[in-house]
Amino acid sequence: MPTKKDYYEIIGVPKDSDEKEIKKAYRKLAMKYHPDRNKEPEAEEKFKDISEAYGVLSDPEKRKQYDRFGHAGIDARYSQEDIFGNINFEDIFSGFGGGGVGGGGSVFETFFGGRGGVRRGPERGSDLRYDLRISLEDAATGIEKKADVMRTETCDVCKGTGAKPGTTPKTCPYCHGAGQISQARRTPFGQFITSSPCSHCGGTGKIIKSPCSSCNGRGRVRRPGTLSIHVPAGIGSGDRIPLRGKGEAGVRGGPPGDLYIFVHIDPHPVFKRDGNDILYELPIHFTQAALGDDVLVPTLHGDVRMKIPAGTQSGSTLRLRGKGMPKLHGLGKGDQLVKVGVVVPTHLSARERELLTELQRIEDKNPAKGEKKNKGIFEKVKDAFA
Ligand SMILES: [Zn+2]
Ligand SMILES: [Zn+2]
Repeated sequence: MPTKKDYYEIIGVPKDSDEKEIKKAYRKLAMKYHPDRNKEPEAEEKFKDISEAYGVLSDPEKRKQYDRFGHAGIDARYSQEDIFGNINFEDIFSGFGGGGVGGGGSVFETFFGGRGGVRRGPERGSDLRYDLRISLEDAATGIEKKADVMRTETCDVCKGTGAKPGTTPKTCPYCHGAGQISQARRTPFGQFITSSPCSHCGGTGKIIKSPCSSCNGRGRVRRPGTLSIHVPAGIGSGDRIPLRGKGEAGVRGGPPGDLYIFVHIDPHPVFKRDGNDILYELPIHFTQAALGDDVLVPTLHGDVRMKIPAGTQSGSTLRLRGKGMPKLHGLGKGDQLVKVGVVVPTHLSARERELLTELQRIEDKNPAKGEKKNKGIFEKVKDAFA
């Protein structure tokens, strides 16, 4: 299956466009590709594509869902009816004289399947997003976090029915429980069916005589709640943790949405992360580099003793195996890579100057020659250490 094109691209508007700009752009395209006007074979498909994009982007709730979760967020939650039923075609084509447009309704029948009203059944609750900032240390060990989230929950007094306990909602006599009143309308494109929510029951299909006092008959209440989040060791910045069923409560008995925890890891003052490895820069004296030394190096798992082999070159990297990030959902850890940088002193005491001058006098005048001679030894020492 080809990947679906971005809705903003389809309509040809930037992501930050407001409703007016989106509507204007859609209207222009709709005029061009309406199959009654455009007889090119691909016009109908194109008209359907732009209408789908507009159906999503013109609805603040669906647009929010799309911006956060992309096509996946839309496809999982909305039917074609939900998307196309949202478009007020009469409004879009208003003021457009029907000259030359004949044969009505075929496109709309394709979209709506020629049906009347849309029964408003159970609806899944919306997904929620929660942004969680943690430190690199927390990411290395894993952590339990609490999140205060404002969300809609099913009213536990009426169990979501909206009716006072002991009473039950009655089927609306005006729409017979459909929640919608359907009407046939004539437009420049011919006749098509529009449905609008039933005003007697507010589109629910049910009449509640004595509403639940806890939720005022809505069946859902908005309230803050605290959630426990298990952040697994090894998590990366930008990873998402899904909490199934922890989003907004469903409507009319529908299932709840999901809550997505978006993880952000704060930059660390001394460590850099590269996948499962941790990079660390260690400044040393050139005497330590030349003679070798034993030093304490900080890691995410505490200080670790590390041997600097004699003859270590500035810029070389030493490896502390298993001292990096744990592998997410796996066994073992990455490494810590210690990049050694030799610091050349800028201020010398009299004694240091004296010793260095002495050293300079007896030193080989061609450092490249010395390096070549020592290279084999240096590599061996490093390998042994690694
Ligand atoms: Zn209630
Ligand atoms: Zn009704």
